[in-house]
Amino acid sequence: MSRVDTLREIEDVVRNPLKLIAHWKERSGGKVVGCLACMPPFVPEELVHAAGMLPVGLWGAEIPVRLADAKLQSFACSVARTSLEMGLKEAISVCDGFMFPSTCDAFQNLSEVWKATTEKPCFKVTYPKRTNGEAARGYLQKEFELLQAELARFSGAPVGERELRKSIEIYNENRRLMRELDRLRAGRPDFLSTRQMTDVVMASSFLPREEHSRLVRSLLEAASEPARPRGEPGEGGKEPVRIFLTGVMARPIAIPTALEELGVWVVGDDLGLGSLYYSTEIPGGAASHVDLAEGYLRYPPCSTLHPSPPARARTLISRVRETKAEGVLILVTKFCEPELFDHPQLREDLKEAGIPSVLLETELSMTAPGALRTRVEALVETLKENRHHGR
Ligand code: SF4
Repeated sequence: MSRVDTLREIEDVVRNPLKLIAHWKERSGGKVVGCLACMPPFVPEELVHAAGMLPVGLWGAEIPVRLADAKLQSFACSVARTSLEMGLKEAISVCDGFMFPSTCDAFQNLSEVWKATTEKPCFKVTYPKRTNGEAARGYLQKEFELLQAELARFSGAPVGERELRKSIEIYNENRRLMRELDRLRAGRPDFLSTRQMTDVVMASSFLPREEHSRLVRSLLEAASEPARPRGEPGEGGKEPVRIFLTGVMARPIAIPTALEELGVWVVGDDLGLGSLYYSTEIPGGAASHVDLAEGYLRYPPCSTLHPSPPARARTLISRVRETKAEGVLILVTKFCEPELFDHPQLREDLKEAGIPSVLLETELSMTAPGALRTRVEALVETLKENRHHGR
């Protein structure tokens, strides 16, 4: 399949996931579990998959919030508020149950409110506060075993070592393919726009993972096809400025649109709805639940599960250099405490490393995205100046 056809199929999935999920249900007779997703989902989707169910990512939506305002504080982030809005409006009635990670206060509060508004089962994944050491691994292994038993009861399909190992392999394979796509993007930033890359990542949390891997393989096979020209050449005929994205997600759609209109190249990211999602690898060698716990604890530093701002800054700087990015756009969802706590350290360390950065506070339900464009423009101007002065 050509690059254009594959991207069209992915776009169809992302623009209308409910139709596809309903179709999967009808075809398979299986249940659907809506997984609250952000930095990244941090729900062990392999456990849901092994029980013959479809885990579906709920990343919030670009919709106005009305009903949810009566149940959640107005200072909760828009990922939590718009996800609840979808739930209250019955927009996601295709889900038979829901799963919440304990990664931030917003999701913890949301799980309590959600339980009070639905008859459907709500599963919780509670992570240890400290993610290193034997005790953390042992605790999470037990948590995953208990969750697996609950999910097996819910689906009616017993799950053994063989089923779980198979699911782990399917998810690992998908993560590897996505990392390969990342490398391709760094080398050929014209191959995928930010909006297309966000779509590819999002589609992975709507489609059965085997299906998604088929599409990513098809994109990788099309690597030699010419991509459409994107963006204006930089000053003096140089290539467009190269930007790295960090933070929560490149949404609302006004963000990728502004980046495209300004003609910048996004050469990499470590977003929750981005490469953070597929940056771990579940190891092999031990019992499946032990390996799964190890893999989830091995995620690179992030603001929620593995908060270590200095370690995150080091990882970020090394990825910026690896991808030859000239500046960083920090995308923080408004009221996201974990990300806002990390920001001062990231800003300081980037500055010390001589990497310009700009913080963009975003809201999925924002009504006046024009200000976003102005901030992105400011970063692009700084980077062009730097080039001009040979910095
Ligand atoms: S508070 Fe931050 S990490 Fe938590 S759901 Fe909101 S945006 Fe995501």
